[in-house]
Amino acid sequence: MLDTEDITLLFKALTFAAEKHRLQRRKDGEASPYINHPIQVADTLWQIGEVYDIVTIIAGLLHDTLEDTKTTPAEIETLFGAEVLALVQEVTDDKSLPKMRRKQLQIDKAPHKSPRAKQIKLADKSCNIYDLTHSPPPNWSSQRRQEYLDWTEQVVAGLRGINPALENHYDTLLAEARTVMA
Ligand code: NDP
Ligand code: ZN
Repeated sequence: MLDTEDITLLFKALTFAAEKHRLQRRKDGEASPYINHPIQVADTLWQIGEVYDIVTIIAGLLHDTLEDTKTTPAEIETLFGAEVLALVQEVTDDKSLPKMRRKQLQIDKAPHKSPRAKQIKLADKSCNIYDLTHSPPPNWSSQRRQEYLDWTEQVVAGLRGINPALENHYDTLLAEARTVMA
């Protein structure tokens, strides 16, 4: 379980992620604050996955900072340590690559990720599918939504075998998404 030091670290990560994502919005019609998403990912890890490992929870909160903000690896290492940095880097796409290449790399690399990274990615895909069902980007065609679901399914195929509760959660949300979109 978490001790006082862990809770301090948790608030530090929440504050850091909120600051880094402060000018960003999600792609839903209401342009929700971006920070809602990393909080949702960490909450999914904790409540659904019963992941009580502070390194994973902190990396879950920070999982989109390197990819989507100007955060540097050095900042994360200084504030949260090398272990958290390595994990955040493991779930970060190389934005210098073309989008379709990045998408394929996620599929190819998923089976080779560490167990901690696999769980963060599983929670991330689950949250994005939930958002796609309940608060989708308004400009996305039905085909684009379907393609997104199909792609997550391919990534998640490589993330299985670590946390059955998170896998079941993803499967439930995917089935719900497919029903709603049918
Ligand atoms: P994007 O990568 O552009 O967008 C999806 C990402 O946006 C999510 O992974 C999530 O990432 C973030 N996000 C922010 N807000 C939301 C929200 N409300 N709901 C869900 N996700 C949100 O999409 P893709 O490139 O994956 O496009 C989906 C599919 O459509 C692809 O398979 C591609 O082939 C196809 N496509 C079609 C196009 C078209 O014009 N028809 C153009 C481009 C792709 P995070 O957690 O990192 O924030
Ligand atoms: Zn994310």
